[in-house]
Amino acid sequence: MKLIDKFGRTIDYLRISVTDRCNLRCVYCMPEKGVETIPHSEILRYEEILKIVDVAITLGIKKIRVTGGEPLVRKGIIGFLSELSHRKVDFSVTTNGILLGDFADDLKKAGVKRINVSLDTLSEKKFSEITRGGVLKKVINGIVKAKALGFEPLKINAVVLPDTSEEDIKTFIEFAKTNGLVVRFIEHLPFAGYRTNQLVALEKSCKMKYNLIPTDVEGFGPGRHYKMNGATIGFISALTFPFCRKCNRLRLTSDGKLLPCLSSLDFVDVKKAVRNCASDEEIKNLFFEAVKNKPEKHTFENPRDCMAVKSMVGIGG
Ligand code: SAM
Ligand code: SF4
Repeated sequence: MKLIDKFGRTIDYLRISVTDRCNLRCVYCMPEKGVETIPHSEILRYEEILKIVDVAITLGIKKIRVTGGEPLVRKGIIGFLSELSHRKVDFSVTTNGILLGDFADDLKKAGVKRINVSLDTLSEKKFSEITRGGVLKKVINGIVKAKALGFEPLKINAVVLPDTSEEDIKTFIEFAKTNGLVVRFIEHLPFAGYRTNQLVALEKSCKMKYNLIPTDVEGFGPGRHYKMNGATIGFISALTFPFCRKCNRLRLTSDGKLLPCLSSLDFVDVKKAVRNCASDEEIKNLFFEAVKNKPEKHTFENPRDCMAVKSMVGIGG
């Protein structure tokens, strides 16, 4: 039996947040101080996640993204990824890149093929401001090392912020060309009380100024992609041009909630079931329930009704 929702969408993609902890404090994702973390005992253990993954695979989940928080700060992450690599599922990791230089070799050995690095600027000063103290050089070293080790494609995801300029985009494109990367500009989503929407205007002015050639890139997910001077760049605007009609994903939070949509609080508690020694059949039914709860579209309008009251760090971006 496959996971198909009431709008006819087949659900075959699971994003798994393995931790709500992070070694950065990005302004749009986390408060500067007073971050409330989930107690360790409430975080899914790796063997619990793997049990859920095994059931998910029997239901047609084909693709998994491991995210967080920052996945590379969780102890034992390499062993977990190595376990995942023995499953029949296409999986990848999203990281802020701070520890990528230290972990790249181990990630390769663990069977990870694809990595997304989140990096919003190539200016040291801006990077330190956005991440509240992060060191850009570490991320760049991590990217260069990962590229040299053959992670392909190596994608950079850059959230567009109020002071992201055309010049920033040009610098990213040069960086992508030099290092053989894909850069995707992401529209900011209104989490953590921080709101901006610059992406569409920037895309428009870039299209007028530069020779952007639209391109379809298989496996690159939603968004508009272009070739430009040998680089591939994408613009992903979940708010302005929602791609809900094609949405194929569920999210598993680090504390074991199965979320039908980023903007929905209609979650199903899988941790409770797993800890009560639920059978595979019972876990399957929870997946069906989550899919049944999947809304037709996301909405970030009413904070009380959606996960926008929380930040991405707890949900898993
Ligand atoms: N720590 C890892 C990282 O930064 O790549 C993984 C978790 S992070 C929550 C995953 C992605 O969510 C990052 O690319 C980050 O930029 C993005 N993100 C976080 N808050 C966001 C927001 N409000 N709007 C859009 N993207 C956001
Ligand atoms: Fe941490 Fe990623 Fe959120 Fe930045 S975006 S605070 S790196 S989880």
